[in-house]
Amino acid sequence: IYTNFIRLDMDPNRIIGVMALIQDVTEMRKLENMRTEFVANVSHELKTPLTSISGFIETLKNGAMDNEKVRNRFLDIIDIETERLTRLIDDLLTLSAIENHKLAKKRDEIIIKEIIREMNMMVQALAKQKSITYSTELEANLPPIYGNRDLFKQMILNLVENAIKYTPKNGQVKVLSYKRYDHIFIVVKDTGIGIPKEHIPRLFERFYRVDKARSRKVGGTGLGLAIVKHIVFSFDGDIKVNSKLGKGSEFIVKIPIIE
Ligand code: ADP
Repeated sequence: IYTNFIRLDMDPNRIIGVMALIQDVTEMRKLENMRTEFVANVSHELKTPLTSISGFIETLKNGAMDNEKVRNRFLDIIDIETERLTRLIDDLLTLSAIENHKLAKKRDEIIIKEIIREMNMMVQALAKQKSITYSTELEANLPPIYGNRDLFKQMILNLVENAIKYTPKNGQVKVLSYKRYDHIFIVVKDTGIGIPKEHIPRLFERFYRVDKARSRKVGGTGLGLAIVKHIVFSFDGDIKVNSKLGKGSEFIVKIPIIE
């Protein structure tokens, strides 16, 4: 708390009163700290792939170029790291656009069945790579949702991609959607590695990962769930996670139906 005492004296020889201005800066400090931490995180996340890229280029220039096998392996790594940087920047831009409410203002009519159908080919291909069974179960006659269609699709896609990323081979991933009273529920369920209970409250923070090494290995940016949370909130919705370590997780999105 900051306290400022201001003298209320028109005539410097005569004090007519003192005004105390008490300002709570806890919230301001918290925001400022979060911003500083975010910038530090972004810098670190950008720097890691860049260091790796420049390191491999340097090694190539110093002679590794002559060995075809080594050269191809190094080029592959440079390729993967470049892709990671691109994804990271795309995710950062999305996050900042949602936060600025630029994208959230749209009012498209969103038919969930259509969104799921559009995602199907890409998701099936991802699932197939890991022999994961992907299925959907949509209640008939779901009413439409109104908002930014692209964001809505990205929200489901992020959840489904995570479900596939964090589920071992031969597992199952399922998307369900149903209406209960005046809400639409979208549930993304997997039979994956699960999330330790103590991590769940922080899961939606930017760059928060349960297992940094695993996230990196599967190509994660650490921003997927932060984006999901922002999108869900832009629909005035809510998101919950149920998970059992080693058994699987379910992410439950609840969105109000607006007539
Ligand atoms: P990332 O890019 O690392 O996947 P996210 O923001 O999408 O970042 O997710 C944050 C973390 O939450 C992940 O690093 C992972 O540890 C955990 N996580 C997300 N989805 C799942 C899931 N379906 N099963 C298990 N862990 C998950």
